[in-house]
Amino acid sequence: EDALVVRDLTKRYGETVALDGVDLTVSDGEFVSVVGPSGCGKSTLLRVLSGLEERFDGRAAVDGEDVRDGGSDGVGMVFQEPRLLPWADVSENVAVGLPADVDADDPKAATRIDDLIETVGLSGFEDHRPGGLSGGMAQRVSLARGLAYDPAVLLLDEPFSALDQLTKYEQQDNLLDVWEARETTIVLVTHDIEEAAYLSDRVVVLGGQPGRVVETIDVDVARPRE
Ligand code: ADP
Ligand code: ADP
Repeated sequence: EDALVVRDLTKRYGETVALDGVDLTVSDGEFVSVVGPSGCGKSTLLRVLSGLEERFDGRAAVDGEDVRDGGSDGVGMVFQEPRLLPWADVSENVAVGLPADVDADDPKAATRIDDLIETVGLSGFEDHRPGGLSGGMAQRVSLARGLAYDPAVLLLDEPFSALDQLTKYEQQDNLLDVWEARETTIVLVTHDIEEAAYLSDRVVVLGGQPGRVVETIDVDVARPRE
C-alpha cells in the first residue's frame, strides 16, 4: 500500500517552473528524505501535499485520496519553528493537532494526547508552557502535535536546522524512535544530506531549476547509533 503517490507533478509560478514532472511514491511505513539546493522546489512540493496549492498539473494523492479532494487532511506537518501557542500548556498544544470534530477533553482523545507526549519523551511536562521549554523540547511538542491527527504521512520541513548540534542528534534519534514505535510514514525535507542518509530508507534528490528528481538513493547502512 502506498501512503503517498506523486505523478508528473508540475507547478509553475508565472514564468518560473518550480517543479517539472516530479514522480514520487512512498510506501506505508517508509521513511523518505527529500534533499536539494535552495530553490529546487522542496517547499513547493510540501505546499502541494499539504493542500496549500490548488493549481498544479499532475497528480498528488495521500492514502489513495487526491490532495485536491481532501487527501491533504491525511498529512501531518512539522515545521522548522515549532510555532506553539505561548499561553497554552504542552497538552493543549498537542491537542491543536486533533481533527476539528474531536473534543480534546474526550477521554479517548485525552489518552491519545498523553500517549503522544510519552512517545516524544515529554511525560511530566504536560502542564508546562512553551516559554519554559528548551528548543529541542518545543520541537518534540510540535512533533506530537503533527501526529495527533494520526496522519497517513508525516511531513517534516527542515525540523532540526535551528537546533544546536547535540540537541539535533537527540531529536533525530527521538524521531527514529517515534517512527519505529508508531509505524509512521515519514517524508523529511532537509538540505542536510548527512541527516537524510542517517535517518531515511531512501533519499530523493531534487535538482533544478526547474526542480525535478535527479537521483534516488536507497540507503542501506546500519544506523550507527542503533
Ligand atoms: P526550495 O524550498 O527548494 O528552496 P521553493 O519551492 O521555495 O524551493 O522554490 C522553487 C522555485 O519556485 C524558486 O525558483 C522560487 O523562486 C519559485 N517560487 C516559489 N514560490 C513562489 C511564489 N509564490 N511565486 C513565485 N515564485 C515562487
Ligand atoms: P550522546 O548519546 O552522547 O548524546 P549520540 O548518541 O547522540 O551522543 O551520538 C554519538 C556520536 O555519534 C556523537 O559523537 C556524534 O558525533 C555521532 N553522531 C550523532 N548523530 C549523528 C548524525 N546524525 N550523523 C553523523 N554522526 C552522528
